[in-house]
Amino acid sequence: QFHMIKYEDLQWDVSLGQGSFTRIFSGYKTDIRDGEKHVTDVFLKELDVVHKNYWESFFEAASLMSQISHKHLLLVYGVNIMVQEFVEYGALDLYLQRGRSVSVSWKLDVAKQLASALNFLEEKNIVHGNICAKNLLLAREGDPSQGSSPFIKLSDPGISVAMLAKDVILDRIPWVAPEVLESPDNLTLECDKWSFGATLWEIFNSGEPPLRGWDLDQKRQLYERFLQLPPSQWTELADLIGQCMDYQAAFRPSCRSIIRQLNSLITSGNHYTSQLIMHTT
Ligand code: ATP
Ligand code: MG
Repeated sequence: QFHMIKYEDLQWDVSLGQGSFTRIFSGYKTDIRDGEKHVTDVFLKELDVVHKNYWESFFEAASLMSQISHKHLLLVYGVNIMVQEFVEYGALDLYLQRGRSVSVSWKLDVAKQLASALNFLEEKNIVHGNICAKNLLLAREGDPSQGSSPFIKLSDPGISVAMLAKDVILDRIPWVAPEVLESPDNLTLECDKWSFGATLWEIFNSGEPPLRGWDLDQKRQLYERFLQLPPSQWTELADLIGQCMDYQAAFRPSCRSIIRQLNSLITSGNHYTSQLIMHTT
Protein backbone atom coordinates (compact mmCIF):
# COMPACT_ATOMS: atom_id res chain seq x y z
CA GLN A 1 0.00 0.00 0.00
CA PHE A 2 2.88 2.34 0.74
CA HIS A 3 3.84 4.48 -2.20
CA MET A 4 5.94 7.60 -2.48
CA ILE A 5 4.30 10.89 -3.29
CA LYS A 6 6.39 13.39 -5.13
CA TYR A 7 6.29 16.81 -3.57
CA GLU A 8 5.36 18.38 -6.92
CA ASP A 9 2.25 16.17 -7.10
CA LEU A 10 0.91 17.82 -3.96
CA GLN A 11 -0.99 21.03 -4.04
CA TRP A 12 -1.53 22.95 -0.82
CA ASP A 13 -4.85 24.69 -0.48
CA VAL A 14 -6.00 26.45 2.67
CA SER A 15 -4.81 26.32 6.26
CA LEU A 16 -7.25 24.56 8.58
CA GLY A 17 -5.47 25.65 11.73
CA GLN A 18 -3.62 23.46 14.16
CA GLY A 19 -3.75 20.10 15.87
CA SER A 20 -2.06 19.31 19.15
CA PHE A 21 1.38 19.21 17.54
CA THR A 22 0.61 19.91 13.92
CA ARG A 23 -0.28 22.54 11.40
CA ILE A 24 -3.05 21.30 9.16
CA PHE A 25 -4.07 22.09 5.60
CA SER A 26 -6.37 20.86 2.92
CA GLY A 27 -4.94 20.11 -0.46
CA TYR A 28 -4.94 17.91 -3.55
CA LYS A 29 -2.85 15.07 -4.74
CA THR A 30 -2.48 14.41 -8.43
CA ASP A 31 -1.45 11.10 -9.88
CA ILE A 32 -1.49 9.44 -13.22
CA ARG A 33 -3.07 5.97 -13.22
CA ASP A 34 -3.65 4.03 -16.45
CA GLY A 35 -2.72 7.13 -18.39
CA GLU A 36 -5.41 9.14 -16.65
CA LYS A 37 -5.00 12.02 -14.30
CA HIS A 38 -6.64 11.58 -10.88
CA VAL A 39 -7.06 14.34 -8.35
CA THR A 40 -7.77 13.39 -4.74
CA ASP A 41 -8.64 15.66 -1.82
CA VAL A 42 -6.06 15.27 0.89
CA PHE A 43 -5.54 16.36 4.44
CA LEU A 44 -2.00 17.55 5.12
CA LYS A 45 -0.46 17.39 8.56
CA GLU A 46 2.88 18.92 9.16
CA LEU A 47 4.67 18.77 12.46
CA ASP A 48 4.68 22.28 13.92
CA VAL A 49 8.24 23.65 13.96
CA VAL A 50 7.97 24.42 17.67
CA HIS A 51 7.61 20.67 18.21
CA LYS A 52 10.43 19.64 15.91
CA ASN A 53 11.97 17.56 18.69
CA TYR A 54 9.09 15.13 18.18
CA TRP A 55 10.05 14.54 14.59
CA GLU A 56 10.92 10.88 14.96
CA SER A 57 7.70 10.05 16.74
CA PHE A 58 5.63 11.92 14.18
CA PHE A 59 7.35 10.02 11.40
CA GLU A 60 6.73 6.77 13.23
CA ALA A 61 2.98 7.44 13.53
CA ALA A 62 2.80 8.29 9.85
CA SER A 63 4.76 5.20 8.80
CA LEU A 64 2.64 2.94 10.96
CA MET A 65 -0.57 4.22 9.42
CA SER A 66 0.74 4.03 5.88
CA GLN A 67 1.71 0.39 6.30
CA ILE A 68 -1.54 -1.04 7.56
CA SER A 69 -4.87 -1.05 5.84
CA HIS A 70 -8.38 -1.58 7.17
CA LYS A 71 -11.70 -0.05 6.22
CA HIS A 72 -11.96 1.69 9.59
CA LEU A 73 -8.38 2.93 9.65
CA LEU A 74 -7.51 6.24 8.05
CA LEU A 75 -5.56 6.02 4.79
CA VAL A 76 -2.20 7.71 4.99
CA TYR A 77 -0.45 8.24 1.66
CA GLY A 78 2.69 10.06 2.64
CA VAL A 79 4.86 10.37 5.68
CA ASN A 80 7.29 13.29 5.68
CA ILE A 81 4.41 15.57 5.66
CA MET A 82 1.54 13.35 6.66
CA VAL A 83 -0.65 13.17 3.58
CA GLN A 84 -3.99 11.64 4.48
CA GLU A 85 -7.28 11.05 2.81
CA PHE A 86 -9.52 14.03 3.51
CA VAL A 87 -12.39 12.97 5.72
CA GLU A 88 -15.42 15.04 4.93
CA TYR A 89 -17.16 15.44 8.27
CA GLY A 90 -14.02 15.80 10.36
CA ALA A 91 -13.51 14.78 13.98
CA LEU A 92 -16.35 12.95 15.72
CA ASP A 93 -16.17 14.91 18.98
CA LEU A 94 -16.74 18.20 17.18
CA TYR A 95 -19.47 16.66 15.05
CA LEU A 96 -21.38 15.44 18.10
CA GLN A 97 -20.84 18.72 19.94
CA ARG A 98 -22.60 20.57 17.15
CA GLY A 99 -25.76 19.11 18.60
CA ARG A 100 -26.84 16.88 15.74
CA SER A 101 -29.46 14.51 16.98
CA VAL A 102 -28.12 11.05 16.39
CA SER A 103 -29.89 7.89 17.38
CA VAL A 104 -28.65 5.24 19.74
CA SER A 105 -28.18 2.82 16.87
CA TRP A 106 -26.04 5.41 15.05
CA LYS A 107 -23.79 5.65 18.10
CA LEU A 108 -23.66 1.89 18.41
CA ASP A 109 -22.61 1.63 14.78
CA VAL A 110 -19.75 4.02 15.45
CA ALA A 111 -18.75 2.02 18.53
CA LYS A 112 -18.83 -1.24 16.58
CA GLN A 113 -16.72 0.19 13.79
CA LEU A 114 -14.12 1.41 16.25
CA ALA A 115 -14.17 -1.98 17.93
CA SER A 116 -13.56 -3.66 14.59
CA ALA A 117 -10.57 -1.40 13.91
CA LEU A 118 -9.24 -2.24 17.39
CA ASN A 119 -9.78 -5.92 16.78
CA PHE A 120 -7.75 -5.64 13.59
CA LEU A 121 -4.94 -3.89 15.47
CA GLU A 122 -5.12 -6.42 18.30
CA GLU A 123 -4.74 -9.30 15.86
CA LYS A 124 -1.68 -7.61 14.41
CA ASN A 125 -0.43 -6.86 17.91
CA ILE A 126 -0.28 -3.13 17.17
CA VAL A 127 -0.97 -0.66 19.95
CA HIS A 128 -2.56 2.59 18.78
CA GLY A 129 -1.99 4.64 21.91
CA ASN A 130 -4.28 7.64 21.35
CA ILE A 131 -7.86 6.51 20.93
CA CYS A 132 -10.42 9.23 21.57
CA ALA A 133 -13.37 10.76 19.74
CA LYS A 134 -11.11 13.54 18.45
CA ASN A 135 -9.14 10.91 16.56
CA LEU A 136 -12.21 9.32 15.03
CA LEU A 137 -13.04 10.89 11.71
CA LEU A 138 -16.47 10.77 10.20
CA ALA A 139 -16.33 9.81 6.53
CA ARG A 140 -20.07 9.34 6.05
CA GLU A 141 -22.81 10.87 8.11
CA GLY A 142 -25.39 8.26 7.39
CA ASP A 143 -28.97 8.80 8.33
CA PRO A 144 -30.54 6.49 10.85
CA SER A 145 -34.07 7.19 9.68
CA GLN A 146 -33.13 6.05 6.16
CA GLY A 147 -31.34 3.06 7.58
CA SER A 148 -27.92 4.13 6.33
CA SER A 149 -25.04 3.87 8.77
CA PRO A 150 -22.30 6.34 9.55
CA PHE A 151 -18.76 5.41 8.58
CA ILE A 152 -15.78 6.26 10.73
CA LYS A 153 -12.04 6.02 10.37
CA LEU A 154 -9.55 5.90 13.16
CA SER A 155 -6.85 8.52 12.65
CA ASP A 156 -3.14 8.26 13.45
CA PRO A 157 -2.05 8.36 17.10
CA GLY A 158 0.20 11.38 16.65
CA ILE A 159 3.17 11.85 18.94
CA SER A 160 3.82 8.83 21.12
CA VAL A 161 2.86 9.20 24.76
CA ALA A 162 6.37 8.03 25.67
CA MET A 163 7.69 11.34 24.33
CA LEU A 164 5.25 13.62 26.07
CA ALA A 165 5.77 15.77 29.15
CA LYS A 166 4.05 14.60 32.34
CA ASP A 167 1.51 17.45 32.22
CA VAL A 168 0.45 16.61 28.70
CA ILE A 169 -0.09 12.99 29.75
CA LEU A 170 -2.09 14.03 32.82
CA ASP A 171 -4.25 16.16 30.59
CA ARG A 172 -5.12 13.02 28.61
CA ILE A 173 -6.96 11.64 31.64
CA PRO A 174 -9.46 9.94 31.31
CA TRP A 175 -8.42 8.59 27.89
CA VAL A 176 -4.96 7.54 28.92
CA ALA A 177 -4.86 4.29 30.91
CA PRO A 178 -3.79 4.74 34.54
CA GLU A 179 -0.77 2.46 34.22
CA VAL A 180 0.60 4.69 31.46
CA LEU A 181 1.20 7.45 34.02
CA GLU A 182 3.65 5.10 35.75
CA SER A 183 5.34 3.82 32.62
CA PRO A 184 4.58 5.84 29.49
CA ASP A 185 7.05 3.81 27.44
CA ASN A 186 5.22 0.57 28.10
CA LEU A 187 2.06 0.86 26.05
CA THR A 188 0.09 -2.37 25.72
CA LEU A 189 -3.03 -3.50 23.89
CA GLU A 190 -4.85 -3.20 27.24
CA CYS A 191 -4.14 0.54 27.31
CA ASP A 192 -6.17 0.89 24.11
CA LYS A 193 -9.07 -0.94 25.79
CA TRP A 194 -9.17 1.67 28.53
CA SER A 195 -9.14 4.46 25.95
CA PHE A 196 -11.89 2.68 24.05
CA GLY A 197 -14.01 2.78 27.21
CA ALA A 198 -13.48 6.52 27.61
CA THR A 199 -14.28 7.02 23.93
CA LEU A 200 -17.52 5.05 24.28
CA TRP A 201 -18.40 7.41 27.12
CA GLU A 202 -17.77 10.41 24.82
CA ILE A 203 -19.82 8.97 21.98
CA PHE A 204 -22.80 8.40 24.25
CA ASN A 205 -22.48 11.80 25.92
CA SER A 206 -22.78 13.88 22.74
CA GLY A 207 -19.02 14.33 22.37
CA GLU A 208 -18.85 16.15 25.67
CA PRO A 209 -15.25 16.06 26.89
CA PRO A 210 -15.28 13.89 30.00
CA LEU A 211 -13.98 15.84 33.04
CA ARG A 212 -14.33 19.13 31.22
CA GLY A 213 -12.90 21.95 33.32
CA TRP A 214 -10.95 19.72 35.69
CA ASP A 215 -7.39 20.80 36.36
CA LEU A 216 -4.46 18.43 36.24
CA ASP A 217 -4.46 17.88 39.99
CA GLN A 218 -8.09 16.87 40.03
CA LYS A 219 -7.50 14.57 37.11
CA ARG A 220 -4.56 12.93 38.82
CA GLN A 221 -6.62 12.41 41.97
CA LEU A 222 -9.35 10.66 40.02
CA TYR A 223 -6.88 7.92 39.14
CA GLU A 224 -5.18 7.89 42.53
CA ARG A 225 -8.54 7.18 44.10
CA PHE A 226 -9.46 4.59 41.48
CA LEU A 227 -12.61 6.49 40.55
CA GLN A 228 -14.76 6.10 37.44
CA LEU A 229 -16.52 8.48 35.07
CA PRO A 230 -20.20 9.13 35.89
CA PRO A 231 -22.02 6.00 34.74
CA SER A 232 -24.38 5.96 31.81
CA GLN A 233 -28.05 5.41 32.69
CA TRP A 234 -28.06 2.58 30.25
CA THR A 235 -26.84 -0.15 32.56
CA GLU A 236 -25.47 -2.51 29.93
CA LEU A 237 -23.45 0.26 28.32
CA ALA A 238 -22.19 1.47 31.71
CA ASP A 239 -21.12 -2.08 32.41
CA LEU A 240 -19.11 -2.35 29.19
CA ILE A 241 -17.43 1.02 29.80
CA GLY A 242 -16.63 -0.14 33.33
CA GLN A 243 -15.08 -3.36 32.06
CA CYS A 244 -12.85 -1.45 29.65
CA MET A 245 -11.88 1.14 32.26
CA ASP A 246 -10.83 -1.47 34.80
CA TYR A 247 -7.83 -0.30 36.81
CA GLN A 248 -6.47 -3.82 36.53
CA ALA A 249 -5.37 -4.01 32.93
CA ALA A 250 -5.52 -7.80 32.82
CA PHE A 251 -9.27 -7.77 33.52
CA ARG A 252 -10.17 -5.60 30.52
CA PRO A 253 -12.12 -7.50 27.87
CA SER A 254 -10.76 -8.76 24.58
CA CYS A 255 -11.91 -7.10 21.39
CA ARG A 256 -13.96 -10.17 20.57
CA SER A 257 -15.78 -9.83 23.86
CA ILE A 258 -16.31 -6.09 23.28
CA ILE A 259 -17.77 -6.76 19.84
CA ARG A 260 -20.00 -9.52 21.20
CA GLN A 261 -21.31 -7.21 23.91
CA LEU A 262 -21.92 -4.35 21.48
CA ASN A 263 -23.83 -6.72 19.21
CA SER A 264 -26.00 -7.89 22.04
CA LEU A 265 -26.76 -4.25 22.90
CA ILE A 266 -27.96 -3.77 19.35
CA THR A 267 -30.16 -6.81 19.28
CA SER A 268 -31.67 -6.41 22.72
CA GLY A 269 -34.15 -3.67 22.05
CA ASN A 270 -31.52 -0.97 21.89
CA HIS A 271 -33.11 2.17 23.22
CA TYR A 272 -32.43 3.93 26.46
CA THR A 273 -36.12 4.25 27.06
CA SER A 274 -36.87 0.55 26.85
CA GLN A 275 -33.86 -0.13 29.06
CA LEU A 276 -34.89 2.45 31.60
CA ILE A 277 -38.42 1.14 31.78
CA MET A 278 -37.07 -2.34 32.41
CA HIS A 279 -35.08 -1.07 35.36
CA THR A 280 -37.77 1.02 36.95
CA THR A 281 -40.48 -1.59 36.89
P1 ATP B 1 -3.43 14.32 18.44
O1 ATP B 1 -3.94 13.44 17.33
O2 ATP B 1 -1.96 14.52 18.38
O3 ATP B 1 -3.92 13.94 19.80
P2 ATP B 1 -5.13 16.35 17.19
O4 ATP B 1 -6.06 15.27 16.79
O5 ATP B 1 -5.68 17.59 17.80
O6 ATP B 1 -4.01 15.80 18.20
P3 ATP B 1 -4.29 16.30 14.48
O7 ATP B 1 -4.33 14.81 14.49
O8 ATP B 1 -3.16 16.97 13.80
O9 ATP B 1 -4.27 16.83 15.96
O10 ATP B 1 -5.67 16.81 13.84
C1 ATP B 1 -6.19 18.10 14.05
C2 ATP B 1 -7.65 18.16 13.71
O11 ATP B 1 -7.82 18.10 12.30
C3 ATP B 1 -8.48 16.97 14.22
O12 ATP B 1 -8.95 17.19 15.53
C4 ATP B 1 -9.62 16.88 13.24
O13 ATP B 1 -10.64 17.79 13.60
C5 ATP B 1 -8.98 17.34 11.94
N1 ATP B 1 -8.52 16.22 11.08
C6 ATP B 1 -7.45 15.44 11.33
N2 ATP B 1 -7.23 14.56 10.34
C7 ATP B 1 -8.20 14.78 9.41
C8 ATP B 1 -8.50 14.18 8.12
N3 ATP B 1 -7.77 13.19 7.60
N4 ATP B 1 -9.58 14.67 7.45
C9 ATP B 1 -10.31 15.68 7.97
N5 ATP B 1 -10.07 16.26 9.15
C10 ATP B 1 -9.02 15.84 9.88
MG1 MG C 1 -5.32 13.44 15.76
